[in-house]
Amino acid sequence: MYPKFEELAGKVAVITGGGGVLCSTMAEMLAAQKVKVAILDLKLENAQQVADKIVQNGGEAIGVEANVLTLDSLKRAHQTVVSQLGPCDILINGAGGNHPKGTTSKTHLHLEDLEANDELKTFFDLDPDGVQFVFNLNFIGTLLPTQVFAKDMVGKKGCSIINVSSMNAFTPLTKIPAYSGAKAAVSNFTQWLAVHFAKVNIRVNALAPGFFLTDQNRALLTNAEGSLTDRGNTIIDHTPMGRFGEPEDLLGTLLWLCSDGSKFVTGVVVPIDGGFSAFSGV
Ligand code: NAD
Repeated sequence: MYPKFEELAGKVAVITGGGGVLCSTMAEMLAAQKVKVAILDLKLENAQQVADKIVQNGGEAIGVEANVLTLDSLKRAHQTVVSQLGPCDILINGAGGNHPKGTTSKTHLHLEDLEANDELKTFFDLDPDGVQFVFNLNFIGTLLPTQVFAKDMVGKKGCSIINVSSMNAFTPLTKIPAYSGAKAAVSNFTQWLAVHFAKVNIRVNALAPGFFLTDQNRALLTNAEGSLTDRGNTIIDHTPMGRFGEPEDLLGTLLWLCSDGSKFVTGVVVPIDGGFSAFSGV
């Protein structure tokens, strides 16, 4: 029997951070496979916009307000999803991101950087609350939705969890120690969950997107007039395929991981990065 994607039709997918750039594209693609999609986001308005667009295009979707850091909020969202669409079959833990307070100004520390300079944020100035925020959003924000929604999947067939890790989980990116560490935790947790859930038919895998130009990183990667910053140029130079990713680049891998095409695959973190992680730079 060759793999098809028809088995996805009628399943219920919950997508956290579904109002955002990457996950809204995922939601639209799954809805086109006749998956019933619940778009969960801190910003209800954004979630609702994505759901409305899907419904206008003939799909089935709802926008639901949810904070991935609060069990009560997730439990309320779960009740809404179950009553309006049914129990969850596919969970995409997409909510995540960085925070400026977990970021240093420079790649390397130099002796003169330790002289008083309000503009410069060195490693020694990192705000523990900022670092905690990033760890919570990415790691706890993956753990809590999994606790709430994976219970629906236990013992059923064809259920899958897809976490969203990042390139920086394999090798940390300069300046963003908190985000790199938090995504490394997401990759590690993906493997842990894959083992833990293996006997109850829940597969757990992750996407590791490379560099996608989105609102979160546009100011870091491009100048006001559209040219690339030094960091943007370095990224392109280290991406053998020579471009940033487009949200659509994630979809084939996502479809594969959600479907029976990957039914013997669990615990993998798939780089979708134009070769960035394969290239040493030399
Ligand atoms: P985005 O900011 O467009 O989307 C993130 C969404 O998460 C937003 O809609 C936001 O409202 C929502 N959100 C934030 N905090 C939340 C909370 N506490 N509860 C519920 N929802 C919350 O970002 P994106 O670029 O589409 O990123 C999506 C995922 O992909 C993130 O996990 C991000 O870390 C990861 N990622 C992005 C890139 C990239 O290049 N853009 C690369 C690697 C990984």
